Amino acid sequence: MSPAIRLPSVADLDLRGKRVFIRADLNVPLKGAEVADASRIDASRQTLDFVRSRGGRVVLASHLGRPKAAPEAKYSLAPVAKHMGLRLAPDCVGAEVEALVAGLRDGDALLLENLRFHAGEEKNDPAFVAALAKLADVYVNDAFGTAHRAHASTAGLAHACRESAAGYLLLREVEALSRVRDDPAHPYVCILGGAKVSDKLAVLETLAKRADSIAIGGAMAYTFLLAKGEPVGKSLVERELVDTARKLLGGKTEILLPVDHVVAAGLDDTAGARVVETIPDGAMALDIGPRSRAAIERRLADAKTVFWNGPLGLFEKPPFDAGTRAVAEMLARSSAYTVVGGGDSLAAVQAAGVGARISHLSTGGGASLEFLEGRELPGIEALRIRR
Ligand code: AMP
Repeated sequence: MSPAIRLPSVADLDLRGKRVFIRADLNVPLKGAEVADASRIDASRQTLDFVRSRGGRVVLASHLGRPKAAPEAKYSLAPVAKHMGLRLAPDCVGAEVEALVAGLRDGDALLLENLRFHAGEEKNDPAFVAALAKLADVYVNDAFGTAHRAHASTAGLAHACRESAAGYLLLREVEALSRVRDDPAHPYVCILGGAKVSDKLAVLETLAKRADSIAIGGAMAYTFLLAKGEPVGKSLVERELVDTARKLLGGKTEILLPVDHVVAAGLDDTAGARVVETIPDGAMALDIGPRSRAAIERRLADAKTVFWNGPLGLFEKPPFDAGTRAVAEMLARSSAYTVVGGGDSLAAVQAAGVGARISHLSTGGGASLEFLEGRELPGIEALRIRR
């Protein structure tokens, strides 16, 4: 078991008159110049509002997308600044930004331009860390979604500032995921989906030691069915992982695989969708079928803890979204402690309109999986080792 994580909280800092650098995760999907989904912005508000209300002078920073270490208009945080009603600095470091920060009054907030416009951010380059540190008296990390990256703004800056602490979002994530990782009430059921076994292998191996049942759906399931010698047609499989899948199937944790499937001729054949129990040659399985959904629901009936990551099918394309949507609704009905992580699963929860009935919606996909694996996340460790 990993040791309990204790983090200094933003609530305990003396903020008045201080320049408070808040690293948030404002990496939202955009549609042109508009924010397409503001969930991450909403999730970051509590810390922002708190620091402003305590008279902190907020220097808010985030990355957006994957720019190639240079300014790119399409990755500008301008749509986020507009959505939040904040002034956007022309860059995230340099004399002009320092002057803007010097002009902040107690309770003001300034949003810095995309941190990843500089190569030093992802490299955790000391010179870039020093440039950011010129803007801050106090550092607050609230970006759980990037806590698994040792970047300048997530790890380096925590060491460079005299005082640093976790924001409310990060504290909530650590508390919820620690509960699932270290002290899950049993029966503990995990539901894992998504495209690739290889992406989820490490977490699968860890969960196989802790969970009572792991339901596997999505394209991942077909590598497992192949390992059992079942026909998978043209479904996506990772042949090099068939032996690994077989080992996992032979372990003590129950692995629940789909027993029926929604198949079609290919990814675009939405009109040809039909339910089968045996996948025919030439067909591709694109969602779990109704009997498989019912089997998951039976496992959830007496579950006390549920963790879900990854879609159970090609959920972007109806009718292949039915299995994923059904799982979102099942979690909402469950009386267990339910945690959902990963962008696709969150999108499914939101599409089903059941977000408020899930115990914890994790804003981090990769970060939540690494946390459950028991790995140390640099963004969290950087806060922890100081005290
Ligand atoms: P991941 O990023 O690994 O969580 O995978 C998510 C992607 O897997 C989504 O784009 C899904 O549409 C896709 N996916 C899930 N199930 C299937 C399936 N049975 N066949 C093809 N793609 C799938």
